[in-house]
Amino acid sequence: MSLQGKIALVTGSTSGIGLGIARRLAEAGATVVLNGFGEVETAVAEVAVFGGSVVHLAADLTQPAEIAALIEQVQQRFGRLDILVNNAGIQHVAPVEAFPVERWDQIIALNLSAVFHTTRLTLPGMRERGWGRIVNIASVHGLVGSAQKAAYVAAKHGVIGLTKVVALETARSAITCNAICPGWVLTPLVQQQIDQRAAVDGDQARARMELLGEKQPSLEFVTPEQLGELTLFLCGEAASQVRGAAWNVDGGWLAQ
Ligand code: NAD
Repeated sequence: MSLQGKIALVTGSTSGIGLGIARRLAEAGATVVLNGFGEVETAVAEVAVFGGSVVHLAADLTQPAEIAALIEQVQQRFGRLDILVNNAGIQHVAPVEAFPVERWDQIIALNLSAVFHTTRLTLPGMRERGWGRIVNIASVHGLVGSAQKAAYVAAKHGVIGLTKVVALETARSAITCNAICPGWVLTPLVQQQIDQRAAVDGDQARARMELLGEKQPSLEFVTPEQLGELTLFLCGEAASQVRGAAWNVDGGWLAQ
């Protein structure tokens, strides 16, 4: 499938799943706008190997004004935004009564409200041009809960609700909106949780297997490459009637 001529923004794409998705979209020919913190130059280089055009635009997506500036910059620079992948997300693990209020606010702002803001600001241009793809990286935690993840689970359930509403509001157009719901993917976000478990005895392998064994029957991690491939599929013509889906890629997590 070719995405030649398409402009794609992948939020939180300097690492992990977002980087995997950005690489796949670039490989398919899209011009990719990266966003996120950390190893920016490495991420740009990793996506640029596919030969297409790639830029990084900085924006803290917990801040609505920075989101508006980001979308405006993309529109000004490229004249359009065809594919929006809402991927940026953070996690915090604590029981609800001890959950730090500022962490709750941050997680809701980034994992949920940012998806609303990018979507509302991108849709008018997609409607004008009569084509668009919005792919929201939710989580199995958008469909089921886990203890100690109050803000994350609430935000991801919200993302799936928002995905359905946007899919309905765009149903009679060539714009689609879907969510992908990964199980465990070995990225920095999950490595933190493995490190917490390994803190007791330093045994990373045991901690990894325990983490997988509790939830993911395949006992294997989902990969960013697999999620990139599914995102690409959702961008294509074959997926034009996939609307409002919450598509789990989870090694069997939700089959239980
Ligand atoms: P990651 O930590 O590797 O990457 C997160 C990205 O978001 C990074 O690029 C980071 O710089 C960016 N980011 C963080 N705060 C930001 C902010 N305020 N503004 C802009 N960018 C910001 O995490 P990941 O595991 O690749 O997670 C990506 C998405 O996938 C998240 O939404 C996460 O909830 C979801 N997810 C991850 C897993 C998993 O097992 N790793 C499973 C299900 C869903």
